Amino acid sequence: MRSQDHDRIFLSPPHLGRHELNYVHKAIEDNWVAPVGPNIRGFEQELCQYTGARHCVALNSGTAAIHLGLAVLGVGPSDEVLCPSFTFVATANPITYLGATPVFVDSEPTTWNICPDRLREAIEDRVQRGKKPKALIVVHLYGMPAQVEPILALAAEYAIPVLEDAAEALGSRYAGRLLGTFGAISVLSFNGNKIITTSGGGALLTDNDEWARQAQFLATQAKDPAPHYEHSVTGYNYRLSNILAGIGRGQLELIEDRVKKRREIYAWYRQHLQSIPALQVGPAEPVGSRSNRWLTTVLLDSTQTDVTIEQLRQHLETRNIESRPLWKPLHLQPLFAEAPRYGGSVCEALFQRGLCLPSGSAMTETDLERIADALKEVL
Ligand SMILES: *Cc1c(COP(=O)(O)O)cnc(C)c1O
Repeated sequence: MRSQDHDRIFLSPPHLGRHELNYVHKAIEDNWVAPVGPNIRGFEQELCQYTGARHCVALNSGTAAIHLGLAVLGVGPSDEVLCPSFTFVATANPITYLGATPVFVDSEPTTWNICPDRLREAIEDRVQRGKKPKALIVVHLYGMPAQVEPILALAAEYAIPVLEDAAEALGSRYAGRLLGTFGAISVLSFNGNKIITTSGGGALLTDNDEWARQAQFLATQAKDPAPHYEHSVTGYNYRLSNILAGIGRGQLELIEDRVKKRREIYAWYRQHLQSIPALQVGPAEPVGSRSNRWLTTVLLDSTQTDVTIEQLRQHLETRNIESRPLWKPLHLQPLFAEAPRYGGSVCEALFQRGLCLPSGSAMTETDLERIADALKEVL
């Protein structure tokens, strides 16, 4: 970290523990500095053990995992894929990589995730137009579980496979079960800002033997069995390196600890920002859900203050505190101006009113107090 960054409070920086270096050391000592090696298998097995998934394919990003996931679900040119509008662009970009079109669906106000009612409307309308969606992507934003049960029921009713984007939600639970196990295919990210990190990385989880085999095949240049390199389909170079998988193994040992810390940070904000009537700290968990509270969010109540989200963000910046507006809905992005959409006003309103606060698991009480004080200065 640069010296002028010394007192900067970042949104969600990496938080390493004590064991990552052991795995990395061993990889270098043993000369496993390659996209093969024992840490990869180890990391995959440990992710399976933790989540309960049958298969895991470790990849070099969450985006790559979504790409391969959609590919093995058969998404191709001129297909349509249902996707929440309120998410990071990496959820939807792989739809476009495959020549398919995203169909955006609004959020519901309780969890901010894809709205089951709007989703039904979207499916029925697309089916009526003779364009039954090829897949549905469900995202658990900021770690908050989506309304999994009604969404899966709807997907089953129309036989649409679900890809679960749990990039922000490792360690979150729905009905007692860890997220990342509800999709036909589920995806994790270990990017530097996520709850645990490999600096960059991701994983594809599935119970389906054939899909796991295919994902692995496509991720390693789609080499057909032959002594020379023989190819009949287009492959990718998407495998995680053995060194980074080593970091992942060290990080995964800490996941429950990290979830606990992020949840404490959320609880701290909730308690200490109570005295600011214009601020509402992110949504409570529906009964039966546990959020990993990857990022704590706040909504600004414009009936209580003239201050805008951007003014608030800039003020925090003057105190060397990083914050960020909520995801800009994808249907508002120039990139997706032409894409069909169902609803949009719920996530538009969230975008206008919301800010993500620093939520890194290494934060101290002093950091939190500095942030609360900075918020109180303007509100
Ligand atoms: C981070 C993220 C991704 C992409 O993961 P990368 O590992 O950064 O490619 C996908 N979806 C969501 C919702 C994310 O937050």
